[in-house]
Amino acid sequence: MNTSFDIIIVGSGAGGGTMARALADTGAKILVIERGDFIPQEDQNWSAEAVWKQLRYRTTETWRDEGGIPFRPYTHYCVGGNTKFWGTVMYRLRPEDFGVVQHEDGVSPAWPIDYATLAPYYDRAEQLYGVHGEAGVDPTEGPRGPYPYPPVPHARVVSEIVTRLTQQGLHPSALPLGLQPSCILCNTCNSFPCKIHAKSDAEVCGIGPATKQANVTLWTNARAHRLFTDASGKRIESVEVERAGQMTRVSAPLVIVSCGAVNSAALLLRSANDQHPGGLANSSGLVGKRYMAHLATMMQGFHPFRVNDTVFQKTVAINDFYFKGPHSPFPLGQIQSQGRTHGVMAQTVAPMFPVRAFEAWSARGVDWLAMTEDLPRVENRVTVEANGGIRLHYQPNNLRAHKRLVRETRCMLRKLGFWMVVTHSHKSKNTTHQCGTLVFGTDPRKSVLDTYCRTHDIENLLVVDASFFPSSAAVNPGLTIVAQALRVADHIKSTRA
Ligand SMILES: Cc1cc2nc3c(=O)[nH]c(=O)nc-3n(C[C@H](O)[C@H](O)[C@H](O)COP(=O)(O)OP(=O)(O)OC[C@H]3O[C@@H](n4cnc5c(N)ncnc54)[C@H](O)[C@@H]3O)c2cc1C
Ligand code: SF4
Repeated sequence: MNTSFDIIIVGSGAGGGTMARALADTGAKILVIERGDFIPQEDQNWSAEAVWKQLRYRTTETWRDEGGIPFRPYTHYCVGGNTKFWGTVMYRLRPEDFGVVQHEDGVSPAWPIDYATLAPYYDRAEQLYGVHGEAGVDPTEGPRGPYPYPPVPHARVVSEIVTRLTQQGLHPSALPLGLQPSCILCNTCNSFPCKIHAKSDAEVCGIGPATKQANVTLWTNARAHRLFTDASGKRIESVEVERAGQMTRVSAPLVIVSCGAVNSAALLLRSANDQHPGGLANSSGLVGKRYMAHLATMMQGFHPFRVNDTVFQKTVAINDFYFKGPHSPFPLGQIQSQGRTHGVMAQTVAPMFPVRAFEAWSARGVDWLAMTEDLPRVENRVTVEANGGIRLHYQPNNLRAHKRLVRETRCMLRKLGFWMVVTHSHKSKNTTHQCGTLVFGTDPRKSVLDTYCRTHDIENLLVVDASFFPSSAAVNPGLTIVAQALRVADHIKSTRA
């Protein structure tokens, strides 16, 4: 078995899958190590029962919260990572998100790069992931050209809502969505894998095309346990991988960790050694710290006499409160329409009622997501327990702003005529938008990674996934992870040449 490569990438999600694709044409011998398997294309992909009740594709691993209580994180270990399940909402950060932003509950820090630096990579990321959208309508968007593909048309009910939102003085805009031409706009997209591979995910747009090239090897069901440094402590010498029950060591002059924000931090912490007693690349003491996730509340407007016949509902966003609220000078966040709630999904929240009741309810509801920025706090962090398990210490913050956003959304929905608005939040156990555990920056005392995601301490170790975010902004993170991966890949190519 070959154990020596030019580049090792650990993880095949938004960061790792994109890196593999972007580096494949270098001809370098690339090994992608992925702890999960391919998601099979099967009927259960689109079954709410399988996805929401049986949690068929979710990891069975448990993490512990800060009180030591075990919980099953909302995350997936598979080829393509969490992008296999994402809602394909692919937003650019707003230009202001790259600067210091004062929030009601504290400061959102500046990024070491600005919007203009990432903009060309956002363009390429949108091309690579086939993003549909409409430029020039969203009042918060930065300078940009047209989207690669036109916006997904609103269904009748959503279209009527958009007209009435505009009459309320709001500025609804098309949700940017990464969809392949074969998409049939079904009602099992967000949180479901796509049975026909029409979702722009990191398997379809990253790993799949990359592994068509002979120089790219993918190991599935292969889990990286530790990284070993050489005698100088300045370079990664090998990666210890468990594959088919066997421990193997593989090596490469360049190692890119892309395990997702929680697992990448955990891998560095687990790899502590004499030269790096606090975990690898941790001279700043920041590895695992500043964990962020968005504050998110699902909201449903209900009207007993209005049947909602929409199939694909996730097409509109309202960003009017992104920078400030109508009754607050501080940012509140973003409102998006959501995929249709299935009865089974609702029943997981209140199992005492029959699924038929929820189906009848959901048929008369329109679903929304209210999302607010989470601020980085050093107390919110990932640690590793003596047995190697993950502990997630997390207390949400910026709650007042989020409550205001939920209030404004409720008010907006009531003005639309909905009789009732019900809300649900996964609260602090929602790890879907995890980020920020290995912050990037220019000062090695205040950051773990440099601006090209190379660790300050270990010259051949990069981390390219959601870990590098200095702030979480209030838009979905995926496109920014992909854009930064493309930027890092370009940098690797130019510095290796
Ligand atoms: C239901 C859901 C809906 C979402 N919707 C959206 C959306 O609409 N828009 C958006 O922008 N974002 C969305 N997200 C978030 C988005 O999916 C993540 O931000 C993104 O996938 C993170 O990319 P990543 O590279 O950091 O990690 P991931 O994509 O999670 O990839 C990490 C990979 O590393 C592998 N791995 C972990 N540890 C190891 C190890 N030790 N050894 C080997 N492999 C390892 C994992 O199996 C995984 O494949 C959603 C997430 C979920 C769960
Ligand atoms: S067909 Fe389209 S809407 Fe349905 S799951 Fe696939 S990508 Fe999503």
